[in-house]
Amino acid sequence: MKANYGYMDGSGDYFITIDTDKCVECETRACVAACPANLFVIEEDDWDDLVALIAQDKRKSVKYDCAPCKPVTDRPPLPCMAECPFDAIEHSW
Ligand code: SF4
Ligand code: SF4
Repeated sequence: MKANYGYMDGSGDYFITIDTDKCVECETRACVAACPANLFVIEEDDWDDLVALIAQDKRKSVKYDCAPCKPVTDRPPLPCMAECPFDAIEHSW
């Protein structure tokens, strides 16, 4: 299942999407360590599988929390996406 976390405002859409089906096979949980803003947590879903989520208290601030990873110029690979071994993470902006 693809789960979306974030919001939209007058300046755009700011959603992080996690394909939780891919998390079921993941042994590294690398997203948690990779994110400097501590956005990712690992929790049980409705099927008792451990999957990555965006922490509840971070879902309304992803635009700002992710800003240091997303400079306008010379944008490096996002740490979360670069470290996830299953390519499970997408960003809408
Ligand atoms: S590293 Fe990727 S596959 Fe593993 S738990 Fe995090 S988002 Fe899921
Ligand atoms: S872009 Fe940076 S701050 Fe945002 S989720 Fe990825 S690693 Fe975390």
